[in-house]
Amino acid sequence: GKFVYSFNEGSKDMRNLLGGKGANLAEMIQIGLPVPFGFTVTTEACNRYYNEECEIAEDIIEQIFEKLSELENVTDKIFGDVSNPLLVSVRSGSVFSMPGMMDTILNLGLNDETVVGLAELSKNERFAYDSYRRFIQMFGNIVLEIPKSKFEEIINGKRQERNCQFNLDLKTEDLREVIKLYKELIKNETGREFTQDPKKQLMQAVMAVFRSWNNERAVLYRQLNNISSSLGTAVNVQSMVFGNMGDNSGTGVAFTRNPINGEPGIFGEFLINAQGEDVVSGIRTPQPISEMAELFPDVYKEFLRISKLLEEHFSDMQNIEFTVEKNKLFLLQSRNAKRTAEAAVKIAVDMEQEGLIDKKTAVTKLEPRQISQLLHPRFEGEDLKNTQRLTSGLPASPGAVTGRICFSAQAAQLASSNGEKVILTRVETSPEDLAGMVAAEGILTARGGMTSHAAVVARSMGRCCIVGCSEMKVDELKKTITIGNIVLTEEDCISLDGNTGMVYKGEVKTVTPELSGNFGIIMKWADEIRTLKIRANADNYQEARSAVHFGAEGIGLCRTEQMFLKENRIYIIRRMLLTDNEDKIREALLQLLPFQKKEFKAIYEVMQDRPVTIRLLDLSFHEFLPNTTEEIQRLSDQMNVPYEKLNKRIEELHELNPMMGYRGCRLAVTYPDIAAMQTEAIILAAIELKREKNLEISPEIMIPMIALEKEFTFIKKIVVDTIDRCFKKENITLNYSVGTMIEVPRAALTADEIAQEAEFFSFGTNDLTQMTFGFSRSDSLKIIQEYRQKMIFENNPFETIDKNGVGKLINMAAELGRTVRPNMKMGICGEQAGNPETVEFCHSTGLNYISCSPYRVPVARLAAAQAVV
Ligand code: ADP
Ligand code: MG
Ligand code: MG
Repeated sequence: GKFVYSFNEGSKDMRNLLGGKGANLAEMIQIGLPVPFGFTVTTEACNRYYNEECEIAEDIIEQIFEKLSELENVTDKIFGDVSNPLLVSVRSGSVFSMPGMMDTILNLGLNDETVVGLAELSKNERFAYDSYRRFIQMFGNIVLEIPKSKFEEIINGKRQERNCQFNLDLKTEDLREVIKLYKELIKNETGREFTQDPKKQLMQAVMAVFRSWNNERAVLYRQLNNISSSLGTAVNVQSMVFGNMGDNSGTGVAFTRNPINGEPGIFGEFLINAQGEDVVSGIRTPQPISEMAELFPDVYKEFLRISKLLEEHFSDMQNIEFTVEKNKLFLLQSRNAKRTAEAAVKIAVDMEQEGLIDKKTAVTKLEPRQISQLLHPRFEGEDLKNTQRLTSGLPASPGAVTGRICFSAQAAQLASSNGEKVILTRVETSPEDLAGMVAAEGILTARGGMTSHAAVVARSMGRCCIVGCSEMKVDELKKTITIGNIVLTEEDCISLDGNTGMVYKGEVKTVTPELSGNFGIIMKWADEIRTLKIRANADNYQEARSAVHFGAEGIGLCRTEQMFLKENRIYIIRRMLLTDNEDKIREALLQLLPFQKKEFKAIYEVMQDRPVTIRLLDLSFHEFLPNTTEEIQRLSDQMNVPYEKLNKRIEELHELNPMMGYRGCRLAVTYPDIAAMQTEAIILAAIELKREKNLEISPEIMIPMIALEKEFTFIKKIVVDTIDRCFKKENITLNYSVGTMIEVPRAALTADEIAQEAEFFSFGTNDLTQMTFGFSRSDSLKIIQEYRQKMIFENNPFETIDKNGVGKLINMAAELGRTVRPNMKMGICGEQAGNPETVEFCHSTGLNYISCSPYRVPVARLAAAQAVV
């Protein structure tokens, strides 16, 4: 096979093979832009490297040297030649951009002899030794894995000795000495001399880039951004151009628009007489790019022309890396630029209006995940400027919140019950802190990563959360936080920015996001394009309101559990479960009917003519039962039943594995009156609204956890009989439908049987994933983390749908269902539903709708449009 491509053999469509950087370099060569020539070793070569015990196979080495001699011809220079040396950069480049995560080596090909040649050829000795010094440092750090700091120490020492501020001020002689010290360092650290053979340098550098694919930060970055580890990185070998040749040279980085707010116009920085990383390393302060206009008027004009051209060619805002060598411009990289959510929205709308892209393309310019940033309150920019930054950590869950520091869950609960806003601050959280997390505005931890307990729980509750603030010392006993020499106590307020991970002292003003303006425009385009309907999960009228606000077209899952647990209603249910007298059960349920009817009515009123799917009770026994002696005692007093008798009954009901026990429809089989009462509430609420407000509501009644067709028929009969009774009594009728959740694998396998009776399906992917894998949703986080670390799982299957297993079940069930009811309505609900990959899967499976939490609705609307494009 072919494992190495010259730049003129590639194109932008080959990013899987050439990586993003390589593909775009090739594309720029193809359209005639000034890019130093080179070649790309493919991602497939990287994968072979890993499969072949971290060796590069002979055939690949051969191809590399073939392309190297082609490069010699094109550049008219010779690799390793003393009088006319070819120097190259060896650059990583993965399929998805991972800025700064992997490694790049510049000036490769230099050794004690070629450096002399370079000096003569360029008539610039200082430049040659500067390049050599840089090369040894990068090679030593990246290939030989000697800490950068050891090299820095040496050169810093030299600067001090010479009493100069910048490396730029070091003379040739100084650089020679630095080089000597660098080589000694390498000898001491590795026991070997620094490699003088350019071919060995090259192959070692290529291997180091392959290795860097699995360095810690790259692995973490991939996990955070859901990038597959199996992709591998390509390696680009490119002839060098030099920005460190003097004051007519330089290097810079630019964006074709402002990546922070999206305003048009070039945005970037530039450094004279510099190379590569100098711009970002912060050693010297770069100049704004606009100043190039005076220093390099012709180059700047050319640069503006090319930026515009690149933006048009790639149909997106570009992030460009370039170098000027003796007043000549060279492009070294161009890629679609990362940008804030706010900028993304503005740029997409602007580019459509400028005629650069059409609406369909515009909706692909936003990251669905990023959009959620726009939906949470944010700190006001002006106020932020005047606020003291304390520290930063990992932005685990978005939001912008302020509160008083609390060091324990109890303190947080107490304060919040007094109406105070608090930030729960811990070394790390454990499940015992849950109540405190609920009570707090935000959560801050010193330890933990993006998948730590605090992070996961906070995201699931929509709490703002920052984890892993390693600079911060939390003393939970003394109740202090120490950051450097700042000490904070329970008296202090702090503010968390969950979008950036920044922690601020005191209060910061917030702004609530507008869904209008450019954002509104994009969402309107998305709605025009998508075919998948987006509903929300909402359990009460408040959530229904926010669902409508975010553009939901209905409720796909209205859970009724809260209606049983709110206030003192749990007592009614407890009485029911713990008594054996049927009349008492009915009496208990009749007390609940008016509550439920009122709640359904309020939800219908918000939703108006939008569809609402209501799920009958899905709780397991153990969630109702008292479990402490005091609780049982209290209940025994209230119910006037002896403690012993009550306790015995509770023991009878105890289950070792409640998630696979008495829950879902099984409850309705044992207690048909629950289903009947709920149905009555659902129907009467609709009837009342029809009479009072002339609203035509067609309730969709959903039975959870069905595994068998007979189970469904049994409960459906209760539902239908109840409805008939209501209609007769009220002398009125309504449209309604009765369907089921498919969340037990057996239901998916026998979906055709179930579809004989069920009128719609809703795939409950949380349980379906749990039961398909046999992984407990609530306890398996540790296992999943370990599986991800060991690359057994690429993603958490509770976050991103497992297409091959769970997805296959869904596909099968959908097809089986349609053999019986060709137009059967099908959707999915569950936490994964708002996940862009899941949305895309649902679109391709031909489901009618997805239902996700209200905040995720805009994300899902966008993802559904992108699935079409
Ligand atoms: P990253 O992916 O971290 O941006 P790059 O491979 O883009 O790493 O390299 C970083 C910088 O090194 C580039 O922006 C450029 O300034 C410099 N560089 C890379 N290759 C060359 C080259 N052939 N000639 C001159 N400078 C180069
Ligand atoms: Mg780069
Ligand atoms: Mg379920």
